[in-house]
Amino acid sequence: MKEYRCFIGGEWVTARSGELFDSVDPFTAKVWARIPKCDANDVDRAVEAARRAFDSGDWPALNATQRGHLLRRLGDLIARDVDLLAATEVQDNGKLIAEMRGQVAYIPQWFYYFAGMADKVEGAVPPIDKPDMFTYTRHEPLGVVAAITPWNSPLLLLVWKMAPALAAGCTMVIKPSEFTSASTLELMRLVEEAGFPKGVVNVVTGFGQDVGEAISTHPGIDKIAFTGGELSGRRIAQQSASNFKRLTLELGGKSAQLVFPDANIENAVKGVVSGIFAATGQTCIAGSRLLVHEAIHDQFVEKFLELARSARMGDPMDMTTQVGPVTTQPQYQRVLSMIEMAKAEGATVALGGKPADRPECGDGWFVEPTVLSDVNNRMRIAQEEVFGPVLSVIKFSDDEEAYALANDTPYGLAAGVWTADMARAFTAARRLRAGMIWTNTYRAVSYMMPFGGVKNSGMGRESGQDAIYDFLETKSVWLAFNKDVPNPFVLR
Ligand code: NAD
Repeated sequence: MKEYRCFIGGEWVTARSGELFDSVDPFTAKVWARIPKCDANDVDRAVEAARRAFDSGDWPALNATQRGHLLRRLGDLIARDVDLLAATEVQDNGKLIAEMRGQVAYIPQWFYYFAGMADKVEGAVPPIDKPDMFTYTRHEPLGVVAAITPWNSPLLLLVWKMAPALAAGCTMVIKPSEFTSASTLELMRLVEEAGFPKGVVNVVTGFGQDVGEAISTHPGIDKIAFTGGELSGRRIAQQSASNFKRLTLELGGKSAQLVFPDANIENAVKGVVSGIFAATGQTCIAGSRLLVHEAIHDQFVEKFLELARSARMGDPMDMTTQVGPVTTQPQYQRVLSMIEMAKAEGATVALGGKPADRPECGDGWFVEPTVLSDVNNRMRIAQEEVFGPVLSVIKFSDDEEAYALANDTPYGLAAGVWTADMARAFTAARRLRAGMIWTNTYRAVSYMMPFGGVKNSGMGRESGQDAIYDFLETKSVWLAFNKDVPNPFVLR
């Protein structure tokens, strides 16, 4: 049994209360680690450390190039420790080792990219209508940034926040999900080894209602970068208004995959499978609604079911496993109850629809890859996020109907478009109300491309060059060189 400590002010500490909580391996359903159960007192400690590190000491004394060196060193250490970090993520989350080795090996790129940007943030000398003034702008770090992260991709979603925040010169208080704190704490060992000054990065572990709320309401925090569910996002937005914290919210989705009659069917089948069954459907970008043209519907669904049926489930540490367990027990119950709800609404289970009863699944929380037909877009199963391996299939008869169906949810995170017709691809990219459109591919991400949604899928973008500006404030500086002040009582 591993017992972790928090990382506050550069020290490895227990929660002030001394309490711990369990972290459970979703494949064995057994406790494998104990995590400090922090509360508002620990948040105060972490914010104090982050404020001190922001206002004085070694961190603000570094120039942007030196900050970039530290980020690069951290990227190198992650590259060195890919195996350990990937295995921790698998044990805590049930993600597949086959996916995690690649994902963790890719994570250093965010640090390298934003390390390169750190010393390329330029202020401006805007043209000014006042001839006796010289003006310029500076971009300065926002201050103390809190990162609140979910359980589905703990490291990746943290790094999307950490790399630009640190490149910008901010300091951080991080709260990982109570279900998956371990990989974040393992990463802190590397932050320490890289040589970041004490207090620049702090981690407070614990539950949303204790640690999360204490962060949202804390006057010492300047920004929250949040990834998680819509309800928590709304609560954080309300609470953080107390001191008008800056906010980035990456929330849920009900993304559509649109398969047009001219699509390459083989590729589209693989893309739709990967969109909903990779990571056991536990991704915000899960393509959970398949919109398929009536002319190819039967042929497409038949091929799709054939591939989905062949999915190998089992131990996520086995390189050949294709679908792992659901990460948490509450989520497992929720997925099953949403399938029941869909059936009650009139959907037909074309595949799966129940817990996986296979010896290779052991005691884990496995749900069979599930395909629901006879779904109409007004049903709750087509409107609400499942966050599990459950696909709803809906037919359309022309492009207009496809766009209308795709846009008809409260969310707008992503959409997949499968077509060989480039005119249709460009039109779809324009007509679909989503933050990300993938054409003839799905689930591609890069440190260079902005990631985020519209409508209830959130606000703001992560990754890409602009992301660093979310961690900077613009300061306007005015210098007058006219010594003659004409009338001090009149505003100029
Ligand atoms: P969640 O909202 O339950 O928890 C996310 C984090 O918020 C956790 O650390 C949790 O402890 C904390 N939290 C909960 N209540 C809080 C409160 N009142 N104040 C402050 N913090 C609070 O989400 P989850 O179940 O961990 O993750 C799944 C959700 O995340 C899904 O809805 C999914 O779509 C979304 N998600 C979005 C993206 C994206 O980039 N858009 C990526 C991954 C996951």
